[in-house]
Amino acid sequence: PKQQQQKKKIEGAALIGIDIRKEDDLAEWYQQVLTKGNMLDYSDVPGCYIYEPGSWHVWEQIQAWFNKGIRKLGVRNCYFPLFISEANLQREKDHLEGFAAEVAWVTEGGKNKLEKRLAVRPTSETAMYGYFAEKIRSHRDLPLKLNQWNNVVRWEFKHPMPFIRSREFLWQEGHTAHLTEQSAGEEVLSILDLYAGIYEELLAVPMVKGRKTVNEQFAGAYYTTTVEGFIPATGRGIQGGTSHCLGQHFSKMFNITVEDPTFKQGEDKKPPIHVWQNSWGFTTRSIGVMILTHGDNKGLVIPPRVSEIQVVIVPVGVTAKTSDEDREKLYKEAQAMKILLQNVEPNPLRVEVDMREGYSPGWKFNDWELKGVPLRLEFGPKDQAAHRVTTSRRDQEGKGEIAIDQLATEIPKLLEVIQSDMYNRAKTDFDSHRKVITDWNEVVPTLNAKNVIIIPHCLEGGCEDKIKELTARKSEGDSAAEDARAPSMGAKSLCIPFEQPKLGLLEGETKCLNPECESKAKTWVMYGRSY
Ligand code: AMP
Repeated sequence: PKQQQQKKKIEGAALIGIDIRKEDDLAEWYQQVLTKGNMLDYSDVPGCYIYEPGSWHVWEQIQAWFNKGIRKLGVRNCYFPLFISEANLQREKDHLEGFAAEVAWVTEGGKNKLEKRLAVRPTSETAMYGYFAEKIRSHRDLPLKLNQWNNVVRWEFKHPMPFIRSREFLWQEGHTAHLTEQSAGEEVLSILDLYAGIYEELLAVPMVKGRKTVNEQFAGAYYTTTVEGFIPATGRGIQGGTSHCLGQHFSKMFNITVEDPTFKQGEDKKPPIHVWQNSWGFTTRSIGVMILTHGDNKGLVIPPRVSEIQVVIVPVGVTAKTSDEDREKLYKEAQAMKILLQNVEPNPLRVEVDMREGYSPGWKFNDWELKGVPLRLEFGPKDQAAHRVTTSRRDQEGKGEIAIDQLATEIPKLLEVIQSDMYNRAKTDFDSHRKVITDWNEVVPTLNAKNVIIIPHCLEGGCEDKIKELTARKSEGDSAAEDARAPSMGAKSLCIPFEQPKLGLLEGETKCLNPECESKAKTWVMYGRSY
């Protein structure tokens, strides 16, 4: 405990910096990185957090990028109420069952007990589909495609973790209605591509696309597709975002129907068609995944495309001996560089000059490193005389130089290089920790070595539960079993990857890998300990 903590502390860590190593105590490291990096703070309500400007900026970048993508698919933004009547929430049985344990209820208004309690939305299917039933009168009203950016509450009892698993979280939830299964199915995949795009193109985090097994799919869904990520520090999988086809389950409960468009005058009347529906959600969890993936022992490392500040210019080499005139000249040129970079086309850069008095350049370097700014430009009298700046990338050691008259072209290029290097490193990491396993004896050792695994599986729910049990670490003194943040360390099915291993799996021949299962394998399934 206390003594151990002391031991883990990084020797000589700067007072302002992170004093616990990521590899020694991830939970403590994460907390320090978030709060010292001005990403997030704690409130006095467990599981509810304050999003500081650093993280809010990332969220705004995600919103802008995703809005552009869904507009092309014909989706429009809107807003529905926070509260859901109990009668509505109960209309789809499986859905209710899935969420019942996590719903927060409002039972009083001021001093009065409410006649009918109200649910705080855990998701808005049941808040929206009564409206869908009213608005969809004819097949000409289809497809109806709505999205809302909002907050939801799920009263989780698992240990909360900022961004990753909170009780209140922010997300977008898309809800659409289609005439055919095919039209719905195509959209499910287009949205999944956008989700993978947010992670891979903005957050520089690789994902595996796939379909959930029945055990793990959304309550009330026909099927669920998912992007699955990986946290290298723990070797655990994490669900990055989900795009569901709800089939006709909800349209039957909410009576959302249209006349069959193939009906012709004079024919016998055809039965009405229940619309096909989708819902899809992407949350602020993604910010946590980004931080856990890239952060290091100096603090945050934010990918350039989403960083609130992309470039910080730090004047250096100014001493007591520097004349006022020289200092002025240096600061003036630093300011001019900032303005130049802020006006680069087509993508103006987000730039700061750190002119704070009373702090040494070294202190300032630490401070910006803690905050994860991707690129630092150091600018001193020697640089000025040589018409150049010294560059220092947050994502790697070493320094470079850029001529001042090249800044407008070279800095945007360098930021893109940082972005893609960050992605490539994370991808190499995930790829090398996703192991195809065909021998049961290798399963637990491979999981213990911080990997996720891909195994031949029968797709039966009971077998999944058994695998979870067989792979849970129960022995006392086992370091993982002590991790209270991972209540079930058993491996669960993460997804059926769309991209299946090249290795053959012979239908009707290859056995399910679970030694206690008699069935044949149907497909390769990715399993892992997870968040
Ligand atoms: P769902 O509506 O259950 O499909 O959830 C949509 C997405 O929300 C999931 O794919 C997760 O990435 C994310 N998510 C689920 N629970 C939480 C939570 N408690 N906090 C933050 N994100 C969550």
